[in-house]
Amino acid sequence: MPTQEAKPISKQILAAARLEHVHYAIRDLAVVADELVAQGHKILYLNIGDPLQFDFPTPPHMIEAVHKAMREGRNGYAPSLGIKEATDAIGRDAERKGIANIQSVFVTLGASEAVEICLGALLNRGENALTPLPEYPLYSAVLNKLEAEVNPYALNEANGWQPDLADMERRVNERTRAIVLINPNNPTGAVYSRRTLEAIAELARRHGLVIFADEIYDKLILDEATPHESIAALAPDVPCITFGGLSKNYLVPGWRVGWGIASGPKEPIAPFLGGVHQLLRARLCAGHPQQYAIAPALEGPQDHLPVVRAKLSRRRDLTAEWARSTPHVSLVAPQGAFYAFPKLDIPQDDKTFVTDLLRTKHVLLVHGSGFGQAPGTRHARIVFLPDEPTLSAAYSAMADFIRERYR
Ligand code: PLP
Repeated sequence: MPTQEAKPISKQILAAARLEHVHYAIRDLAVVADELVAQGHKILYLNIGDPLQFDFPTPPHMIEAVHKAMREGRNGYAPSLGIKEATDAIGRDAERKGIANIQSVFVTLGASEAVEICLGALLNRGENALTPLPEYPLYSAVLNKLEAEVNPYALNEANGWQPDLADMERRVNERTRAIVLINPNNPTGAVYSRRTLEAIAELARRHGLVIFADEIYDKLILDEATPHESIAALAPDVPCITFGGLSKNYLVPGWRVGWGIASGPKEPIAPFLGGVHQLLRARLCAGHPQQYAIAPALEGPQDHLPVVRAKLSRRRDLTAEWARSTPHVSLVAPQGAFYAFPKLDIPQDDKTFVTDLLRTKHVLLVHGSGFGQAPGTRHARIVFLPDEPTLSAAYSAMADFIRERYR
């Protein structure tokens, strides 16, 4: 056969149009930061919620558990819903938090995959989920991918960033299927009160909605006065998926170990859960050896947690002190996780603010508009994971920047 010369492909291969609204602002400025690093500058990174970049080592017994599983040959596929030792331990941990009526527990590649699977199993094209504004952008990314709609409800800064219940109520329509609740919250660090949670459960009950409760930071509570409560524990009669994982509480985000806990009335949620299980089977399984760390993490020594919380509350206090003493800045002090979302009283948009701050002072934050925010307001998200000397250096540079620029 005569050989035909291969023609170079000239037509552009376009990405699917539905990706148009998929954004992940947290890494937007990474390119500028890389340029500055190439020029020899040292960047103070206050942008990414990865404790392993800082002084938060993984508990050694968890590493040993995974290592042992690998040595013992647990390197093949795992069951689609996860290994029994792990799902049992997750179920017991949920029960200790008061979650009853548990219908299914499943292990996923990070909480991110649980979110993707559960939203995918529930929402048809054109249906919507109530999502917080500001929000952790995973939710709108997944909803856009599904060609479902983002239906944002306000978090009220004037009320400690608690969800605005009246706004939630107003936004429910005939195509609303679910409420997303992130508690403790990223990016605000707020922890929701029992009253707020009960009111949200009541809203879900009244409108027949599923609650997606993202509680990935539930053991990182910075004030004893505001204990974390799981909404699923307050509303055993409401269909609820509680998302959790090892990434943050147990300091292994790179292992990609997360989970979903489905609770609520058995019969009504069975078809939806059937869909969740179908999608879990279709992607085979989560990483296998890492799952052997779940029971040791949840039920073994917890001594890292008070150490982590003590460091984080000192760093939160430093952040709040910076906000108090810096003009044009105000902050609702975070009560959980490791994020602060100060309001900036400035004439420019916040993306310009963070870009200029990065270029001139080499401090990297994420602009508030990357998370969405109330119209006309400006914010920046700070990750206060770095140690105190690093944070102090960053805050002093940020205060100088603000004073120089805005007087
Ligand atoms: N949910 C929230 C609110 C987060 O902030 C994050 C990560 O930053 C995730 C989920 C993702 O968690 P995972 O690493 O388990 O996928």
